[in-house]
Amino acid sequence: MSPSLTPASLAFAPDGTPVSKTFDDIYHSADGGPGQARHVFLQGNDLPAGWAGRRQFVILENGFGTGLNFLATWAAWRDDPLRPDKLHYLATEMHPLQVADLEQVHRAWKPLEFLAEALRNAWPELMPGWHRLEFAAGRVVLTLLLGDAESSLRQLRASVDAFYLDGFDPNRNPKMWSPALLRRCAQLAAPNASFATWCVAGHVRRALSEAGFAPEKRPGFGSKRQMLAGRLITRRRQATPAPRDERHHAVVIGAGLAGCAIAERLAVRGWQVDLFDRDATPASAASGNLAGIVRPLLSRDDNLASRLNRACFLHLQRSLHRLDQAGYPPRRRFNGLLQIARDAADEIGQRELLATSGFPDSFARFVEPPEAARLLGAQTPLGGWWFPAGGWANPPSLCHAWLAKGGAGIAFHGNSAIAGLRRLDQDWVLLDGTGRVMASAPVVIIATGACPEMTSFPQTAHLPIQPIRGQVSHLPAGTLPALQHAACCEGYLTPAVDGMHCLGASYAKDTFDELRASEHVENLHRLARILPTATQSFDVHALSGRVGFRATTPDHLPLVGALPNLDAALPSDLRLPAFPRHPGLYGLLGLGSRGLVWAALLAEHLAGLINQEPLPLPGDQTDAIDPARFALRAQRRAG
Ligand code: SAM
Repeated sequence: MSPSLTPASLAFAPDGTPVSKTFDDIYHSADGGPGQARHVFLQGNDLPAGWAGRRQFVILENGFGTGLNFLATWAAWRDDPLRPDKLHYLATEMHPLQVADLEQVHRAWKPLEFLAEALRNAWPELMPGWHRLEFAAGRVVLTLLLGDAESSLRQLRASVDAFYLDGFDPNRNPKMWSPALLRRCAQLAAPNASFATWCVAGHVRRALSEAGFAPEKRPGFGSKRQMLAGRLITRRRQATPAPRDERHHAVVIGAGLAGCAIAERLAVRGWQVDLFDRDATPASAASGNLAGIVRPLLSRDDNLASRLNRACFLHLQRSLHRLDQAGYPPRRRFNGLLQIARDAADEIGQRELLATSGFPDSFARFVEPPEAARLLGAQTPLGGWWFPAGGWANPPSLCHAWLAKGGAGIAFHGNSAIAGLRRLDQDWVLLDGTGRVMASAPVVIIATGACPEMTSFPQTAHLPIQPIRGQVSHLPAGTLPALQHAACCEGYLTPAVDGMHCLGASYAKDTFDELRASEHVENLHRLARILPTATQSFDVHALSGRVGFRATTPDHLPLVGALPNLDAALPSDLRLPAFPRHPGLYGLLGLGSRGLVWAALLAEHLAGLINQEPLPLPGDQTDAIDPARFALRAQRRAG
């Protein structure tokens, strides 16, 4: 799959109505965009009355376009005293508008000015994939599914209350009205879900009926005589969702990046979280490093791991921005990161990949050796990938920022190692090493990284997590050529942070937790690959550094979701969704050396699973990180 996306080609009709040159059609009624949004899409779906008093309401729009329907819906939500606590707005879009084009269009809608500006400020890089944006302190969540609507909806995991069907004219844009797409909408529909559209074409009406909706004609907007609206009447039998515990109390075990990230995601949803850690302070284990690097992962075929990493990388930037705005800025410098080619063959591959990827330069570009040398501040024989938004961050400051943002919703309990986990009635009871009860809660999230707790719980002991020791060397500032940007090759090197460059990291399959001179030597070999001109010699017996343990998995993907229950009877239909789970017991585990990049989006994903919200990750990625995948494969192998 090519990661490129063709942005919209915008023009204006003589009366000022925005027009797509690609489809030769108007974005909204010439009789007025906001009026059409309210009449066709809001009233057509019985909104705002239909969402009154709901905890959560989910809208799916096919064809985000200028964002007008979204802005009109957000305004209606804002002005409604009976609004739902949370509005999830999912929107497909194959040709997103550039932000400058959005601005031109938005100028015409004065009453929506303030919201439109917030949308433009949050507008993502135009790359295929899913981009989750938050507004109104996280109560209005917009998930943009950039790419073809039909393939996006095939991957969507959500229960939709209202559909806005707003493709261009079906004669010019048949893919937005295909029977397959409308069938998929019906599959995603919550019981009694509604839909509305300005389109009354006979074949669209028939396709809607065949999909299970009951379309009826209603008076249209402006010069359009009619429109269609209706509800879902027939539906396939769906798996009943697990009953939700409404106490909104969770225990999180492990206060590293994963644990702090999920604690914050639950706290902002109104949960009370008790966060336990064996150490006295958060971020004391693997997440305690002085600086880690932040970059995406590219692959020639843009494989699942690359797509997941890209989504996480982009989401992290938004998450950090929110922390800044809340007054808790984590320490970091995202002024660009250089990934130097390993050798001449790798350099050719790197150059080719970016020549054909279609990625915007603001995300990644190939730099030839002279430019790489300029960025590095030192000669380098090879070029590399330049990620302008990459850099380094200080993981403990990110953990503390998440905890601060969670505020009173998070209670941290240090020096509190949990040694056992037992199910009692509707709750999990957490025990210390002496069998004393430490806490109980309906929901428990295990986020212990590579700490020994992992293997002491029977519920997680079977998970294939392997601790891999990693030693970072700290090189005093002034001992290397001045370095402005983080750089990596077969290791990584940061600019000086608190007077120290971080150089890492070794890989060893043992549990020794003190510094080793031999691993400093290995790291200095890594330094020679990144900065061949660094000539300073170091006494490896005197160098400082830090040892941490990465929690790795056999497929290098994390374990995120409900934990499998290996003692329960297996269903005959052995697939991931049907695999038996421990009720209320979740994992956010196996983040390897990517915790810094992954934690924010994976935590949002897990919070979505726990709260039965639309998921921010596509179905293939959701399954690829499901903690039950290894148990499922083992069962299948066993026949
Ligand atoms: N609702 C929009 C608004 O408020 O401005 C107007 C939508 S416009 C009528 C139709 C949109 O569908 C365009 O933005 C177009 O790029 C998008 N579109 C067309 N074909 C698509 C496809 N196959 N998948 C996803 N989006 C598509």
